[in-house]
Amino acid sequence: MDHDELSPATRVVSLGRVPREPGAQVGAPLTLTSTYHADGPVNYARAGNPTWAAFEEALGSLEGGEALVLASGMAAVAAALSLVPHGGRVVVPSAAYNGTLVTLTDRAEAGEVEVTHVDITDTGAVVAALDGAAMLWIESPTNPLLDVAEVETLAQAARARGVLVVVDNTFATPLLQKPLALGADVVVHSATKYLSGHSDLLLGATVTSPDDAGRGLHERIRRHRQLHGAIAGPMETWLALRGLRTLSVRLERACANAAVLASRLEGHAGVERVRYPGFGAMVSIDVAGDADAAERVAAATLLWVHSTSLGGVESQVERRRRQPGEPEVVPESLLRLSVGIEDVEDLWRDLDAALGTV
Ligand SMILES: *Cc1c(COP(=O)(O)O)cnc(C)c1O
Repeated sequence: MDHDELSPATRVVSLGRVPREPGAQVGAPLTLTSTYHADGPVNYARAGNPTWAAFEEALGSLEGGEALVLASGMAAVAAALSLVPHGGRVVVPSAAYNGTLVTLTDRAEAGEVEVTHVDITDTGAVVAALDGAAMLWIESPTNPLLDVAEVETLAQAARARGVLVVVDNTFATPLLQKPLALGADVVVHSATKYLSGHSDLLLGATVTSPDDAGRGLHERIRRHRQLHGAIAGPMETWLALRGLRTLSVRLERACANAAVLASRLEGHAGVERVRYPGFGAMVSIDVAGDADAAERVAAATLLWVHSTSLGGVESQVERRRRQPGEPEVVPESLLRLSVGIEDVEDLWRDLDAALGTV
């Protein structure tokens, strides 16, 4: 059966398995080894592992490209940024994942790159910043303001100027957005979040386009992974693949819950502004009050987990500005809600009661 003709909901289940042979195991192997008997395709486990290959087959197919699994989302971010030549300029949203922004600021201070911050929703301003740039870094929706970029228009404009386009697709996942089909060169994931989905591991991945240029980028990232040792643990990778099997049903429920909560939060006396892009399972709210008020809400929830991170089956809440390095354009009272798969009425009662403390 041609996997490309299968729906993504089927592919998350059926890909990355061993060949069907009588007596063969049903799932991918968890291969724990540092080395291999000589004269095979891979010598040493920093270069390859069958568990990685299984996860990469599944994620690559979902994104429509070639995947590489890495130690964490930040390892994937660093691998993608390694494609910028020394002194090259990176155009990046002024509010994006703070690990990405802090990395770029550090590297700019060390004289390794130049950085231009843009409002990623202002397509004209982003395009104007592209001339002479080496890389356009897109997040859409962004973390944590949930701004949505015109990915296809931006990618076309960047490609026309020879600017590499990277899309951090952590928030949307390949089930809601396929950046390579929209013209991106590299997709970056924190598989820690939705792809694995159970808040029990850290993992990252890149996916590159299936053309010649993409294969060149794939090879550079693969070398980076091997030589920097940015390698994924086989156990984490195996768990992530197990989590990926339910991505479609988890996301379906979480997105439906998020839509209900976003509409109820509109007009809530404790909420000044709801940020919800109309898809996905992330909702951010500006609490009607100051940072302390927002902290009280986060601390008052009983069901919502007060913790950083997102994309797990359990709903999570965090005031983002408590994190050092979070950009100042993020309001002090902003709570980021990662909506999980619990019963939506239970989630609402808990959140509504906590907002009552404002
Ligand atoms: C969490 C996150 C990262 C970093 O991933 P880790 O797995 O924590 O290293 C990168 N980008 C986005 C959008 C994230 O949410």
